[in-house]
Amino acid sequence: MGSKFEKFMELCNAIKACNRCKLGVTALCGEGNLDARLMLIAQSPGRLENLQQRMFVGPSGKVLDRLLEKAGVDRGEIYMTNLVKCHLPHNRRPKQREIEACSDWLEEEIALIRPEILVPLGYFATKYLFEKNGLKIPEKRDFHLVYGKLIWTGKVKIYPLPHPASLLYNPQLEEEVARHYRKLSVFKRECKWRRVCPMMRYYEEGKLDRRWIELFCKGDWESCKRYQLEERGIWHPDNMLPDGSIDESLD
Ligand code: SF4
Repeated sequence: MGSKFEKFMELCNAIKACNRCKLGVTALCGEGNLDARLMLIAQSPGRLENLQQRMFVGPSGKVLDRLLEKAGVDRGEIYMTNLVKCHLPHNRRPKQREIEACSDWLEEEIALIRPEILVPLGYFATKYLFEKNGLKIPEKRDFHLVYGKLIWTGKVKIYPLPHPASLLYNPQLEEEVARHYRKLSVFKRECKWRRVCPMMRYYEEGKLDRRWIELFCKGDWESCKRYQLEERGIWHPDNMLPDGSIDESLD
């Protein structure tokens, strides 16, 4: 048994002692709010993260802090971890066998924290979650199109974001990347209209597909047409779906 914190400490100790692959010297455990709705998953710790045994303390950490601040999200509200727990020499890309050796740790973290939304940062973490959940992996040249899109797989929600380090090389993308990160503040909580919204009643009565609830009511409620009309005090029919279309089968 044991508390969530005790289980977390046990898991961290096991991660730090890991020798499942040749990288295993100073593995870095994830950190943050153990009850977080959002779990950010980066690729691997950088040199400074490795030295200080803290998540995102290097140059990309500064970028992340800026993006979180702009989004109105505090580090204390989220949980952050890595796909590969050890620093990769010369910041090289992770090898498939290293990801395979290490990803069980990530799965254990996900099972323990039970976040509402998984937020992979960058190519490798996103590719890993897509593969694991049977999602089609876009061609590399189109990969950027998955960033900033909330996905419901039928089991989990995934919201891929560009890695903060990408802005160190492409600072001109800051506005676009910041726009994607801003959604994290929406995902921090569920829609405030949930208790009285007919969509919830339809779902509970088995008339509405769960994806509407996951993608809007417990996800991007800010983009829900019903929410937007509600906020402006504009009438809308009960059978209007979150995307604004009408479902005549709902009464
Ligand atoms: S359908 Fe829209 S307004 Fe209703 S609870 Fe869901 S997000 Fe909120």
